Amino acid sequence: MAKYQCPECGYTYDEVVGHPHEGFPAGTLWSQVPESWACPDCSVRDKVDFVRLEESSDALQELSVASKSAAAQTSQRGEFRQ
Ligand SMILES: [Zn+2]
Repeated sequence: MAKYQCPECGYTYDEVVGHPHEGFPAGTLWSQVPESWACPDCSVRDKVDFVRLEESSDALQELSVASKSAAAQTSQRGEFRQ
């Protein structure tokens, strides 16, 4: 079970809890949430914008930081190109 957070408002979708008001009962996996689903709190961000929250393992957190750093560098290179 994983959690996914909206980068806009901080709303967190927890697969364990689901989101019954949105029609996702407890235990609904993130992969079962429709791609067109938008954040129920801010309605600004879509499912694809959500960030996966890693489990509380040191090794996983380090991997997460490393991949975010690489993504930021890629993003900067893209801006320079434009
Ligand atoms: Zn949001």
